[in-house]
Amino acid sequence: MKLVLPPRVNEKSFQKALDAFAGVVGKQWVLATDEDRDTFMDYYAAGDADQHVPSAAIGPQSVEEVQALVRIANEYKVPLWPISRGKNLGYGAAAPCMSGTVVLDLGRMNRILDVNERFGYCLIEPGVGFFDLFNYLQQDKIRLWMSIPANAWGSVVGNALERGYGYTPYGENTRNICGMEIVLPNGDLVRTGNGAMANSASWHLFKYGFGPSWDQLFCQSNFGICTKMGMWLMPEPEATLGLNIQLPNPDDVGWAVDELAPLRMRGVIEQSPSIGNSLRFVASRTQRSEWYTGDGALPDDVLMDILRKNNLGWWTINLRLYGYDEVNEAHARIVKEAFARHTKQEIEVVKWRCGDPIENSGAGVPATNALQIINWRGGRGGHLGFSPVLPASSEHVLRQFHSTKKRYEEIGVDYYGSFTLFERYTTNVNMMVYDRDDTALTARVRALFKVLVADAAKQGYSEYRTHLSYMDDVALTFDFNSHALLRLNETLKDALDPNGILAPGKQGIWPRALRTERA
Ligand code: ADP
Repeated sequence: MKLVLPPRVNEKSFQKALDAFAGVVGKQWVLATDEDRDTFMDYYAAGDADQHVPSAAIGPQSVEEVQALVRIANEYKVPLWPISRGKNLGYGAAAPCMSGTVVLDLGRMNRILDVNERFGYCLIEPGVGFFDLFNYLQQDKIRLWMSIPANAWGSVVGNALERGYGYTPYGENTRNICGMEIVLPNGDLVRTGNGAMANSASWHLFKYGFGPSWDQLFCQSNFGICTKMGMWLMPEPEATLGLNIQLPNPDDVGWAVDELAPLRMRGVIEQSPSIGNSLRFVASRTQRSEWYTGDGALPDDVLMDILRKNNLGWWTINLRLYGYDEVNEAHARIVKEAFARHTKQEIEVVKWRCGDPIENSGAGVPATNALQIINWRGGRGGHLGFSPVLPASSEHVLRQFHSTKKRYEEIGVDYYGSFTLFERYTTNVNMMVYDRDDTALTARVRALFKVLVADAAKQGYSEYRTHLSYMDDVALTFDFNSHALLRLNETLKDALDPNGILAPGKQGIWPRALRTERA
């Protein structure tokens, strides 16, 4: 990709900034050729990769280097987009929101600084991948478990900052954050929570510190660069007990949510069960053309035939109980009774005890095979995730499911959705899978996305996370008192980042000088 300069910066001063960056990190870590820029584009983009073009990428190796780069960025008004490993697939990958932004790739800062088995936490740098931490814990036989998202290619820090989740009782990674180190947009360095006390004995034990609590202000925001993160890890349980069930009918998701949500809220189920349409299993193993080559979305009768041949229900539920064996058994009885009120479907039971191979345990074990779904349509695949949050009740879930499925059918995309149950809400991730070179299809997907945001907003459903191209759209759905929250965020942005150099546009938050760039 050819160079796109950031707003406010001419070619000469951009070159001077790159030279100054090279003075900090060395020439080899300033990546500014056309090919380099391609590497940091959104490689899953639905035909709009050219809206988010990085001008260069720089790779620091230490906190001091990050601080020096931030000071140079302020001097030349060159915007920076921090990434940890840049695998934010379906949400923009490594690319920045605003074209011309320089990607600050923190992947070289990948040390595991501390793991405390007794208190169940780690202290890590942004470049630590899920595989890195998992291998470290396994090799040293540390009996702490991680929570890992379906695709584990990315970093622990990036996932927690974006509020990604996994499926153990410690599933909400952002909730596990306990104390961070942050480089502010002016280059200053702070530690949050109890880390603000230089010799704190409890930086990664007590989340709140003294006074306002900042960890969540640095999540999904452009207020600072995280250079260290403390994170709670789950003590290995004595046993786990998995219950897997297939639900034959599309509307079964309604009663399943009504039965499971109260059990989730009362702690009978401590992790977040995922209720997903079974097409996801088929899409990760086969290609669409093996089943259907006609136009439009997969017809219902073709889908039913595929499910029958694969011995799958319309929905699949995987849930798991963790803890002491006898408690798991008692909880399993309660969950089974809940299902028995509605179905005679057989429930598959999977048991694991401490000492058995970890692969069958329900511990977070990193894998990347979930990514295979992008081959569903053939060609150079990609996916986009539309992820609203709804109350965990059948009324909301059924309404959202039917309206989303209808929208998918209108534009000819195969419905692919899941509902993950947290204590009080459910996150409804809807995937749109496409061949990136099918321009007609990707244009329809982009139009569908906007319609889904508007439909959801009408019902009072907001997204928990979104792709770069829709950050402004989603931010504007938070409209109480004429977008008072956006005003607050931007007041804070201008105070912390007067030159507007850190991740302009992220989450719809623009610095004063660049508000004309808002979509
Ligand atoms: P992953 O490491 O999972 O691949 P990314 O590096 O793509 O995740 O990060 C996802 C998003 O989170 C980025 O686009 C950026 O907005 C934000 N982010 C990631 N790492 C940091 C960080 N260390 N400090 C501040 N924001 C970050």
